[in-house]
Amino acid sequence: MKILVLNAGSSSLKYKLFDLDSNLVLASGLVEKIGEERAHLIYEAQNKEAYEEEAPFKNHKEALEKIISLLLDKKLGVLKSVSELQGVGHRVVHGGESFKTPCKVNEEVLKGIENMIPLAPLHNPPNLEGLKVSMSLFSEVPQVAVFDTSFHQTMPKYAFRYALPEELYEKHGLRRYGFHGTSHHYVAKEASKYLKIPFEKLNAITFHLGNGGSMAAIKDGKSIDTSMGMTPLEGLVMGTRSGDIDPAIPFFLERELKMDLTTIDKLLNKKSGLKGICGKNDIRDISELSKIGDEKATLALKIYSYRIKKYLGAYLTLLPNLDTLIFTAGIGENSTLVREMILKDLNHLGIHLDQEKNKHVKRGTIQEIQADDKEQKLTKILVVPTDEEKEIASQTKAILN
Ligand code: AMP
Repeated sequence: MKILVLNAGSSSLKYKLFDLDSNLVLASGLVEKIGEERAHLIYEAQNKEAYEEEAPFKNHKEALEKIISLLLDKKLGVLKSVSELQGVGHRVVHGGESFKTPCKVNEEVLKGIENMIPLAPLHNPPNLEGLKVSMSLFSEVPQVAVFDTSFHQTMPKYAFRYALPEELYEKHGLRRYGFHGTSHHYVAKEASKYLKIPFEKLNAITFHLGNGGSMAAIKDGKSIDTSMGMTPLEGLVMGTRSGDIDPAIPFFLERELKMDLTTIDKLLNKKSGLKGICGKNDIRDISELSKIGDEKATLALKIYSYRIKKYLGAYLTLLPNLDTLIFTAGIGENSTLVREMILKDLNHLGIHLDQEKNKHVKRGTIQEIQADDKEQKLTKILVVPTDEEKEIASQTKAILN
């Protein structure tokens, strides 16, 4: 079964073509800077030469047309005809309370995604555009929307409601939704297979630590809490996002520093987090700077890992029968230092990292990094590579079947 996965951002389009029967990625790549004079396209396909192009793709439609022409190309392509595609799976960031599971896209679903735009003004419009373009170019192929928020729809009301007047929830949807659901779900399922625990019985805390970052508490295979909120700004310190701050800070910024709302929005989303503290947002650069004594970089690492540790403490209280901690995404999978800083001095809680195993995590496979444990008393600590596109492809397949 061949499934194309699309992830449309405001000026980008990521794609990955899967053959789920042979478990292969047939082609993948992305187009960046759509709408600018020099958009950049990358295309890689199984056993074919890689291809790159800089061209002015005016919009997502032109970008997708080019991707289709490459997939069908005699020399570079991997498809003989578009009819070989059995489905297109789309990442959609916000499904609100309307979409608790992935679903086949029709006019009503498009309307539902449109209705969520006030909750995700930066993400849902390009996701919707990707869907519409794909529906026009692949008119015979079923399209499935997979939502970042769906996995967290199992949170109980006392976890997802804010202490705000009820009307704001009832009429305007102000509540915690959580994001990165596809990734939290995928790595938890991978961990359950690895640990041979049925997914419906798995109790885990997942750490999705990439440019954006979030954690989830998973009880009996269901998300019961997560650190991101109504938007992806709440929770952990991220590359450029502040995460949790005193909600009165924006009032101060407006009143005392005369910032308008657009400026405050940009400040909290693009200029804060690691970047705000030390000027850099890539953990590799920050770790190098810290090693040579840069105090701001060291402080950034401390604040970053301290915040995660506090969430870990909170989620431990929700999961008395915890099976495993799961680290994933760019930082979670690759940063020995960050994992070490988060998990330091937690032996009293049954969390004991093995320094050597942590240092020698092999990329691309599931690794156990807790200390040796003959009595089986310690919490497992796993590094699990995430693959959101693969999860979207398999959810698309499940819906179409
Ligand atoms: P993601 O959003 O999951 O792609 O993660 C991106 C982030 O992962 C980057 O900004 C880096 O901070 C981090 N990262 C990627 N590779 C490494 C690495 N080898 N070591 C440490 N951090 C890494």
